[in-house]
Amino acid sequence: MVNVPKLFGSLTFNERVMKDRLPAKTFRTFRKMVEEGLPLTRELADMMAYAMKDWALENGCTHFTHWFQPMTGITAEKHDSFIAPAADGRVIMDFSGKDLIQSEPDASSFPSGGLRATFEARGYTAWDPTSYAFIKDDCLYIPTAFCSYTGDVLDKKTPLLRSIAVLSEAARRLLAILGIHTEKVITNVGPEQEYFLVDKAMWEKRKDLVFAGRTLFGAKPPKGQEMEDHYFGAIKPRVKAFMAELDEELWKLGIPAKTEHNEVAPAQHELAPVYTSVNLACDYNQLTMEFMKRIALKHGMVCLLHEKPFDGVNGSGKHNNWSLSTLEGKNLLDPGSDAYHNNQFLLFLAAIIKGIDEYQDVLRGTVASAGNDHRLGANEAPPAIVSIFLGTELTGVLEAIASGQEYKTNGHIQMKLSGNTLAAVSKDNTDRNRTSPFAFTGNKFEFRMAGSQASLACPNAYLNTIVAEELEWVADKLEGTAPEELDAAVKKLVKEIYLAHKRIVFNGNGYTDAWVEEAAKRGLYNNKSTPEALACMTSKKNVDLVVKHGIFTKTEVLSRCEIQYELYNKTLNIEALTMLDMLHKDLLPAAKKYLKDLSETALSEKALGLKPDVAFLKKLQEATAAMYKDGETLAKELVKAEAIEDQKKASAVYHNKVLAAMEALRRSGDGVEVLLGKEYLPYPTYGDLLFGI
Ligand code: ADP
Ligand code: MG
Repeated sequence: MVNVPKLFGSLTFNERVMKDRLPAKTFRTFRKMVEEGLPLTRELADMMAYAMKDWALENGCTHFTHWFQPMTGITAEKHDSFIAPAADGRVIMDFSGKDLIQSEPDASSFPSGGLRATFEARGYTAWDPTSYAFIKDDCLYIPTAFCSYTGDVLDKKTPLLRSIAVLSEAARRLLAILGIHTEKVITNVGPEQEYFLVDKAMWEKRKDLVFAGRTLFGAKPPKGQEMEDHYFGAIKPRVKAFMAELDEELWKLGIPAKTEHNEVAPAQHELAPVYTSVNLACDYNQLTMEFMKRIALKHGMVCLLHEKPFDGVNGSGKHNNWSLSTLEGKNLLDPGSDAYHNNQFLLFLAAIIKGIDEYQDVLRGTVASAGNDHRLGANEAPPAIVSIFLGTELTGVLEAIASGQEYKTNGHIQMKLSGNTLAAVSKDNTDRNRTSPFAFTGNKFEFRMAGSQASLACPNAYLNTIVAEELEWVADKLEGTAPEELDAAVKKLVKEIYLAHKRIVFNGNGYTDAWVEEAAKRGLYNNKSTPEALACMTSKKNVDLVVKHGIFTKTEVLSRCEIQYELYNKTLNIEALTMLDMLHKDLLPAAKKYLKDLSETALSEKALGLKPDVAFLKKLQEATAAMYKDGETLAKELVKAEAIEDQKKASAVYHNKVLAAMEALRRSGDGVEVLLGKEYLPYPTYGDLLFGI
């Protein structure tokens, strides 16, 4: 049996370790500096570095690294050993404050979207003391932010850290107007991570999974997810063993992995940690994804984090549960038992509604990627249209305020399940709606559009900034209101906001065509593809937002979009090339071999005086010819797209032409696959992959 409390955080340089290893005064100063966001003195950095090194060496470390999150979507690291030559030819283990707070990796090969010419390759990483250092593979990992020599932001963490501070200040200001004083407002996030597990031996035989992370061919198996027997179903022993090891590894890193279960699609699973402050949550999520992949391999499986590994069954997302709390722990999104009279809650709610409506295009843009395009708008994920689910209770409160009426709350309703044998279940004051992209779930909002393989830093940086902008707007309106007039002023303002922005509120089923029509009537965005979604990120309104709050400069926004376009184009390019490779190396030879065998059979039948039945042979031959033709079309479209220099223009061609040609090839390829005899199949089928563990 694992001693979980002992194990938990044993590989992190957390506050308990700091307290043990630092003089009390140093620890207090460090905490104060972190809390107030002040720069660290050199002396303090030296003391921290000394304690960190000691701890790391005792735990078997030989190296340290500045761990950062460049625009590639994954994390980056360069390992340095602790050794320093001593005079007598031996070495000592050395690590100074300078090593801790700053490092200079060569930045030339990280995406910068044209921000930094390669000859100015200098990049700096700077220690983020708000996230704990940790040990992995005998190396001390120091979470850092990454910027260029000229100070341009080149990573995902820096904007997030800035947004956290901006949101805290805006929230504090509004709270102060309401007579609530706190040192700091904290953004909390609990990300639910979905993923698939497939057998490694099968994975190796699929070039599409190896190169693209998703299947590009594959006919539907006789059984998919229609029986709804996988969701929350009993976990298979091999998967259970994986989950147990994953939990242990994450716990060692202080990552509070909590809930593990089977998801809707066969072979799909989910892990949710207990929520933490958003900066930690994002770092933890990056590590969680890395460990999922690594531990799956140990169990002979491969973890697929792609948003849509399989056609026809659910894709994977990362539900971003988001809330705000004061330093003292009061959840600012908790309506309490009487939302109607809760000024603080109503104002935060109204600000969020206003922000999501005004910046719906931004929110969609933050989760835009080639992979996520297959998910948003498909029948399981939230649609590409951003809307807010509030549930009957809160909608009732806001409607009452809008029409100037009193609202009587139902409070928490007790549901009796059976006689006296089962405890009464307390019913939440919001019902559930799995189809909403931005759902209020009792005391937090759940943003469900993020893709499973994406970093959560970007959506949260924008979400925080949007809400900060609106909280400031609200604070401007209420500033100077006399205390006795506050109630009336709050109701008036909430009414104004709700009436102006209620088009974004939608409590119905987001998967229906009726909603798509209704949303169009309401004038909501429906950016179905990444190129459309990205185009919105650079509009004046959206650039002004982040520039005003000091999150990005205009140049940084443009360069980031450039990176996104490029990433999109490269992804589609790899996918298209992989399809052509599979066509020519796998599918076509398999079909031709089968055709040859069938033809030979027909000939020998004829030689024996029998009348050969060539109907099937003809069918296969025609299907193969159609597939080949679709392959030729794809190859032509690909050449045209590759020739376009401008990444934004190229992305439209990739989306409109290349993707369309890929879809056609997939259909005809799958048409051939279903005709192939078992021994001719060139790779494991959907049935093998989805039910193979
Ligand atoms: P669901 O019903 O959607 O499965 P859960 O209540 O199990 O939701 O929580 C899902 C995630 O939301 C978990 O990571 C959990 O820690 C997180 N969560 C719960 N409360 C909050 C909160 N106040 N702020 C942010 N995240 C939260
Ligand atoms: Mg959830």
